[in-house]
Amino acid sequence: MEEKQKYQRDESFRNKITTVNEDGGRKWLYPKKPKGKFTNYRSYLSYFLLVILFAIPWIKIDGEPFLMFNIVTRKFVLFGQVFWPQDFHIFGLIMISMVVFIVLFTSVYGRVFCGWICPQTIFMEMVYRKIEYLIDGDYKEQQRLKKQKWDLEKIGRRGFKYTLFYVIALIISHTFLAYIIGSDELIKIQTSPIREHIGGFFAIIGFSWVFFFVFAWFREQVCLIVCPYGRLQGVMLDRNSLVVAYDYIRGEGRAKFRKGENRKETGKGDCIDCNQCVNVCPTGIDIRNGTQLECINCTACMDACDFMMESTYQPKGLIRIDSENAIAENKRVKFSFRSKAYTVVLIILIVFIGFLFKLRGGVETSILRTPGVMYQETENGFISNLYNVKVVNKSGDALDLTFKLINYNGEIKMVGQDNLVVKKGESNQQAFFVEIAKNELTDKNTELTIGIYNHGELIEQEKTSFNGPVR
Ligand code: SF4
Ligand code: SF4
Repeated sequence: MEEKQKYQRDESFRNKITTVNEDGGRKWLYPKKPKGKFTNYRSYLSYFLLVILFAIPWIKIDGEPFLMFNIVTRKFVLFGQVFWPQDFHIFGLIMISMVVFIVLFTSVYGRVFCGWICPQTIFMEMVYRKIEYLIDGDYKEQQRLKKQKWDLEKIGRRGFKYTLFYVIALIISHTFLAYIIGSDELIKIQTSPIREHIGGFFAIIGFSWVFFFVFAWFREQVCLIVCPYGRLQGVMLDRNSLVVAYDYIRGEGRAKFRKGENRKETGKGDCIDCNQCVNVCPTGIDIRNGTQLECINCTACMDACDFMMESTYQPKGLIRIDSENAIAENKRVKFSFRSKAYTVVLIILIVFIGFLFKLRGGVETSILRTPGVMYQETENGFISNLYNVKVVNKSGDALDLTFKLINYNGEIKMVGQDNLVVKKGESNQQAFFVEIAKNELTDKNTELTIGIYNHGELIEQEKTSFNGPVR
């Protein structure tokens, strides 16, 4: 027990970074190829997510991309819904709700996103690392190759690996650009002469080198020092959060395994100190030291440890998904009041985000009296005001609009065409006169309600003011 308390107090590992040498240089990691149940689940999920990631830019809903974040033209499309500059308050609220969602989700369910869903981890561990295992072999062979002199074999392997790495970076770069400019624009860049799309061409090449640099060299450093989500784990997680955790109550004092021994009788813990959990870790940490910022919850160490537990006839789950408190109290993790409350808030947030989408109507209209133009009195006793109507069509169909007065007898006379046609995803404007009989007016300023009809069906009502003579 004394040994366990001593272990719990030892925090010296926090004074150094696993990827930095004593002399301050980069310590290159060679994680062992993980194998096991969780690695399989993670592989299946990542293949599924990769298909989605590459397919999304090519999916369209009513002619609009499923997702597009065109920061150049400020056109943002979420789930086929175009967000115009006028919708930015809703877009902002959706983004804030998503941030709150991520914070609450993380504090209850831990960093599962990093290890299982994050594109950086998926590309690094499930694409680039797997290619590396295929070309360079497992970690021992990779270390040997690193020390090997630059002979034909090493040049061949390195050349082949980095060429493949760059080709994949180029594919990712095209996909990344498709999320920004849309697949139609991407095809134009791909099929037209370079001189017609110099900007797009350089964007593709630039992004491809960034991705190549990240996956060929920078690697786990993205999670360790760049990713803001990773940096915030310290404030989002607490001792009740679910994390990949080592059961030190069961595992300490760790000692090598001897065939045929009874570890209980000899007072040894279940950890056989084989270091396999450290060998497979893509961020190079020893999870036996406790929850650490560097842990991306990839569960590779769980597979490695389960294999060792099985091999030494001990129960699996020495490293498992659990909370720090549940392990310390030797209890099963329970769904605490806080977890339940946060889950309720998460559900409310999902409903709220859905509501925000709904709130964002399909048509946005503004009707303003033309500035600087006074009312006019016609020969037949009518007062006339000039207006300008502007319509933004956010719906999936073209609009064919007509306008009628709702709360007054009077007439609307369009300037030019009788109908205002607004194409899908575009805006249009037109001027019109409103004429009301002088004797209908009771004030110099009258509030008008104008009905907006699409193909004869009332879709919106707009209020505006009407000026007349003083009575
Ligand atoms: S400690 Fe385990 S779960 Fe965390 S990053 Fe390392 S291998 Fe993955
Ligand atoms: S893999 Fe399991 S048994 Fe081996 S060192 Fe890690 S925790 Fe101990």
